[in-house]
Amino acid sequence: MAISAERRDDFPILRRRVHGAPLVYLDSAASAQKPERVLDAVDGFYRQHYANVHRGAHTLSAEATDAYEAARTRVARFINAPDERSVVFVRNATEGINLVAHAWGRRAIGPGDEIVVTVAEHHANLVPWHLLAAERGAVIRGVPLGGDQRVDLDALKGAMSPRTKLVTTFHVSNVLGVLNPIAEIARIAHEAGALLLVDGAQAVPHLPVDVQALGADMYAFSGHKVGAPSGIGALWVREELLATWPPFMGGGEMIRTVALDRSTYADIPMRFEAGTPAIAEAVGLHAALDYLDEVGLQDIWDHDRALARYAIERLRGVDGVTLYGPEGDDRGGIVTFNLDGVHPHDVASALDVRGVAIRAGHHCAQPLMGALGVRSTARASFWIHTTTDEIDLLADALGEVRTFFAGVA
Ligand code: PMP
Repeated sequence: MAISAERRDDFPILRRRVHGAPLVYLDSAASAQKPERVLDAVDGFYRQHYANVHRGAHTLSAEATDAYEAARTRVARFINAPDERSVVFVRNATEGINLVAHAWGRRAIGPGDEIVVTVAEHHANLVPWHLLAAERGAVIRGVPLGGDQRVDLDALKGAMSPRTKLVTTFHVSNVLGVLNPIAEIARIAHEAGALLLVDGAQAVPHLPVDVQALGADMYAFSGHKVGAPSGIGALWVREELLATWPPFMGGGEMIRTVALDRSTYADIPMRFEAGTPAIAEAVGLHAALDYLDEVGLQDIWDHDRALARYAIERLRGVDGVTLYGPEGDDRGGIVTFNLDGVHPHDVASALDVRGVAIRAGHHCAQPLMGALGVRSTARASFWIHTTTDEIDLLADALGEVRTFFAGVA
């Protein structure tokens, strides 16, 4: 693993204790902790440069606008978008997906048109399509997992029809930890004449993302999972598509002219950013992306995958553990499991007492829980600061929890 243990010092929160024990934060997939550099960037911005953007003629407003627009350019460079004009700031991946459903979907989707999703989507990539389908009379087609718990690409091909307008899927699964073969999925979508939207919430923090090489048409992610503040995220859309979309919300910032009874709208990307945006949060996002580039995305991906392999091996040695998700080189730092006879919420509570933070529940993926034959699971997720010692602690604690709850001495 090429990531130095000293990277832990970059995260001030890791110095705190929980219930008297050092914090072991294994919930990065829910939200990532913030590197000091991000905290400093946000603090420094508020202390020195803060004002509203795109409005005032005064110095602070110009500085704030420059910082906000520099963050947009940084996002474009980070995901290799050809142009920052095609990057829209949103609150999070959820809002990015909803933006597509409204601005594109309400015009492009008609009765009988088909939207293809997989069974492993996060609710953020299902519910917006349910809402759109109900409004427009569209049909949602679901693609199952294959026996190896990866998306079944033959089933995906079989799900395509002349009515398919959109394929939308995750880049990395928040439950299975698996990397979806997006370039291949893009080819399948495009051959059928459909667009491809990628939910990159679990990918952008963990591996190099190049939206052009992937062949995606739209790509959404959340800042809070990449070490930035919450309340900022980005949606990238191929410029020639985005340029044709109507606004998503109305208000200040997104207009060209406003009369009492009608308005005309700004060019992209401002057309999609109504109201005062998350300014300092964008500055924090800029700092977070700088930090990730400094650590090295390929190193982060290698580190996450090595930790996943290690965790799978250690957890397999714990009596009563069932693991979910495929194994292999395409498995990132998310390990989902159940402990026989112990509810996942009890597992999480028992670990919390030891200072270990994991997630328990359906992980906003109820259709996937159904496909796995469970109602809920526990999930440990890793990032830059995670160590094998912490995984040892998790595995040892799980053994104790199992003994305690199941009375298996
Ligand atoms: N997609 C995936 C795969 C996720 O893991 C998440 C967050 N758990 C989301 C979408 C939604 O992210 P947010 O809540 O930040 O919009």
